[in-house]
Amino acid sequence: MKTIENFNFKNKKALIRVDFNVPLDSNFNVTDATRISAAKPTIIKVLEDGGSCILMSHLGRPKGVQEEFSLKHIVNKVEDIIGVETKFVSTATGEAAEQAANNLKPGEILILENLRFNEEETKGEKDFAQALSKLGDIYVNDAFGTAHRAHASTTVVADFFPENKCFGSLLAQEIKSIDKVLKTGEKPVLAILGGAKVSSKITIIENILDAVDHLIVGGGMAFTFIKAQGGSIGNSLVEDDKMELALSILKQAEAKNVTIHLPTDSVIADDFSNDANTKICDIKNIPDGWMGLDAGPESRKQFHDVVMQCKTILWNGPLGVFEMENFANATIALGNSIAEATKKGAFSLVGGGDSVAAVKQFGFEKKVSYVSTGGGAMLESLEGKTLPGIAAILE
Ligand code: AMP
Repeated sequence: MKTIENFNFKNKKALIRVDFNVPLDSNFNVTDATRISAAKPTIIKVLEDGGSCILMSHLGRPKGVQEEFSLKHIVNKVEDIIGVETKFVSTATGEAAEQAANNLKPGEILILENLRFNEEETKGEKDFAQALSKLGDIYVNDAFGTAHRAHASTTVVADFFPENKCFGSLLAQEIKSIDKVLKTGEKPVLAILGGAKVSSKITIIENILDAVDHLIVGGGMAFTFIKAQGGSIGNSLVEDDKMELALSILKQAEAKNVTIHLPTDSVIADDFSNDANTKICDIKNIPDGWMGLDAGPESRKQFHDVVMQCKTILWNGPLGVFEMENFANATIALGNSIAEATKKGAFSLVGGGDSVAAVKQFGFEKKVSYVSTGGGAMLESLEGKTLPGIAAILE
């Protein structure tokens, strides 16, 4: 696997695909700069070698050129975070972009305009990729968040750098973290899958059964399993058409020597609301008119014990409706258990959409080994797919 560590960037122009798709407020201020900070190590390595950086990214989903999606809004933030004066060119390809790239001196940074102002970007058009490739000497992909897209800047452009292409340090770290869970991690390996639906995680479950020793299934997803086993789940979230599948997963797990842990009790509510009446209930005996919105205290204890036994831990998806304070307790307890296991030497990876939001909301970010920067890309990796942006560098 070629990373930036395999190159010396002295007097070279690095064309770096970053993920600067950051949230902006109504005054175009960056409200969360995590993704910019995440690209810093790669940018600094190039600059310290004596090279220059041409940064390319998308921002939002513009339809053609739309001022509000211009990357000019983030230039000051990049300057603040990297600590180097940063130039901007209001196009991604063509004469102006080439001139700006040519004028760049070692130690300098240039940001190109939003790649998605050109529809050729998402279509993965070769001519557009070639036009981008003219700007740099070495192509670096550091954008895990878009690595599952075969776009011009994430995948196709790599063809124009047959020898001079590599992963940035962020993308390399993402790949290594997922590999730890799926291949190289110390055993016992545990995956915790929560969230709303079985249907959105089914491919992950099936792929991960070959890699893990333990699987905790929590959140809304668990009720399809409980009902399939004959439990009464009241008005809890369920996918009736996935019950057969749930039973088949339980069988597959048994055959593969994977222990599946389902919640045994639930915090039930008489309404989908933080103000609803609540009580603790055996998960197999939830009365009609009530729904399970969080894992109960017995389940939390059971999950804690499993987490503490394991040396490699993946967490995707909350254990309850964590957006409502009264149903966030099991998700918080799990975060605490994972933090404790990490402190004792386990490797923990959190990723994929809502669990990242939960981890940030409750302050576990620094207490786990790694928080993935990619939602869809992370989920597709866990499904066992080789992402096009990664394949393009490996080829
Ligand atoms: P996902 O995007 O599949 O990871 O699902 C995350 C969503 O699942 C969050 O918005 C949670 O509120 C929701 N969720 C978790 N547990 C439950 C539950 N028991 N009932 C309904 N929704 C849930």
